[in-house]
Amino acid sequence: MFRILANRILDLLFPETCPSCNGPSQAHRTAPFCNTCWAGIQPYEGPMCRVCGLPLPSSYADRCAECTADPPEYETHRSFGLYDGTLREAIHRLKYGKLRRLAPPLADLLFAMDIPDVDYIVPVPLHPSRLKQREFNQAGLVARHLSRRTGIPLDLLSLEKVTNTPPQVGLPRRQRLANERKAFRVLEGGPLKGRRVLLVDDVATTGATLRACARALAAGGTALVEAVTLARSTPDVWSGRKTIPEGVA
Ligand SMILES: [Zn+2]
Ligand SMILES: [Zn+2]
Repeated sequence: MFRILANRILDLLFPETCPSCNGPSQAHRTAPFCNTCWAGIQPYEGPMCRVCGLPLPSSYADRCAECTADPPEYETHRSFGLYDGTLREAIHRLKYGKLRRLAPPLADLLFAMDIPDVDYIVPVPLHPSRLKQREFNQAGLVARHLSRRTGIPLDLLSLEKVTNTPPQVGLPRRQRLANERKAFRVLEGGPLKGRRVLLVDDVATTGATLRACARALAAGGTALVEAVTLARSTPDVWSGRKTIPEGVA
């Protein structure tokens, strides 16, 4: 009786069908994703902007147009991979499917990157009302595990989201930037003053959120800001997967 119940619970916790390939999955650490699909999550190694990490169609230019015209207040932003396939599905299940157990294996992807030399790890915060609605901050969970792996202290309190910005998709760039600019602030008297900070988020699309956080951190007196994200979504550059040049994806 106990064994039947235990198996039922295990089946509930670890479904046997991998959402990426629909094949059977016995992997526990990355459940419900199978080992083969998880191992297929590849780092992006194509040409990119050397400041913001935006994938570029060719390696001819080393900076994107935005970083040339309006450099961000962080040093560099790098993403592990493109927001596609198993990586996209896994982030989605962590964020909206509340599969918190995916945070450690996702954080391991960041750990595999060249993590800059910093004093604190700071996740991009959610507004308190959004946090209440979602129950947890997915960036915070990933940052916590990255902090454990690297031994770099985590600061969850200093950077705050003060305005609950509506979804920014579809707004003109200038308005989006103006909204984001007021969205974050650093608490006075915290530990970040004069320190080097690594900002962590799950997905970057326009990069406006990271720019706004970096601006707030700089205004709060940090010495230097670096940024890493799990995945980079590129809607402004490429209209879809079919247009990604061969060898890039
Ligand atoms: Zn699979
Ligand atoms: Zn750039």
